[in-house]
Amino acid sequence: MYDVAVVPGDGIGKEVVPEAVRALESTGLEFNFHRFDVGYEVFKRDGNPVPNEAIVGIKQNPVCLFGATTTPLGIPNYSSAILTLRKALGVYANIRPAKSCPVRWSRDGVDLVVVRENTEGLYSGIEFGDRDRAYTLRVISLEASERIAKCAFKLAMSRRRQLTLVTKANVLRKTDGLFRDVSLGVAEEHPEVEVNELLVDVAAMHIVMKPQIFDVILAPNLYGDILSDEAAGLVGGLGLAPSASIGDDYALFEPVHGSAPDIAGKGIANPMAAILSAKMMLEHIGEDKWAHKLEAAVISVLMEGKHLTPDIGGNSTTLEVTDAIIKAL
Ligand code: NAD
Repeated sequence: MYDVAVVPGDGIGKEVVPEAVRALESTGLEFNFHRFDVGYEVFKRDGNPVPNEAIVGIKQNPVCLFGATTTPLGIPNYSSAILTLRKALGVYANIRPAKSCPVRWSRDGVDLVVVRENTEGLYSGIEFGDRDRAYTLRVISLEASERIAKCAFKLAMSRRRQLTLVTKANVLRKTDGLFRDVSLGVAEEHPEVEVNELLVDVAAMHIVMKPQIFDVILAPNLYGDILSDEAAGLVGGLGLAPSASIGDDYALFEPVHGSAPDIAGKGIANPMAAILSAKMMLEHIGEDKWAHKLEAAVISVLMEGKHLTPDIGGNSTTLEVTDAIIKAL
């Protein structure tokens, strides 16, 4: 029996997470799902997007299936629920795979993983200022850089043993300089891994022009966030992009996409990113066979092309796509 915290969040998070739960239940594996509410809707009701009871409850489970939360613009002092949660759970490594898949506009030969530092950088949450001038503190620490670099090299060792270190250390000499130095130090412990370095602007261009050259991409927080969305765009878009946020004691699985207010409530959100995130969860808990089967079911539905949501060229609903995946499973 696996205990799983389930946190749908806002917008389409509420539509796709139940579908991931349905897909997991259809495996026949035994799960105990424990639901918790966080996000903007909770903030509007209770004044706090991530109540302490939710954090305590989520932590009582070893893994969490997360949807997405809304972070509205223009509300001073509102902090993003997912950033608060990631910090509270100590999940410092955001693992975002992008792999070619059988949809019309997916590029061939792409199989890369962005390993993004998840706790600091420009997302440190330390901001101050007034109407004339505002500041955000970009924090890079030795400890956080070292643990994310170790995680990326470990992943590279299990893959094609190529790692691209992405920084802007020529300009951000202190912060990215530290991230780079620490990463290159960790590289010395892994001589089997071929290391290339790219500045983030050039990396962004190469991901578009020749994504096939990448295996593991190691990057500080903001660069990893942007490059992974860019990579997702090459292989079918956000509706197909899963991720895992891993720490020493906890793991949270979440689609890369947000709450998508433009389509929320219409029943047409693509559930595949959430279902593929659930597949990453199955791998994490050691259910490799079911992880593989679930991914194969998603791929077969994509290949058949009959049950696709509008974001990838179809006209099916969220529920119909999940039904097709469960049938294929
Ligand atoms: P978004 O990812 O929500 O949406 C971007 C575009 O992709 C939209 O056109 C949307 O319709 C489409 N899209 C995303 N997921 C889809 C899916 N599963 N199926 C079909 N189409 C999909 O990004 P945004 O519009 O920039 O942000 C909306 C809100 O989500 C904001 O409040 C933002 O702060 C928040 N957000 C949250 C997370 C998170 O919780 N992890 C991540 C990103 C954005």
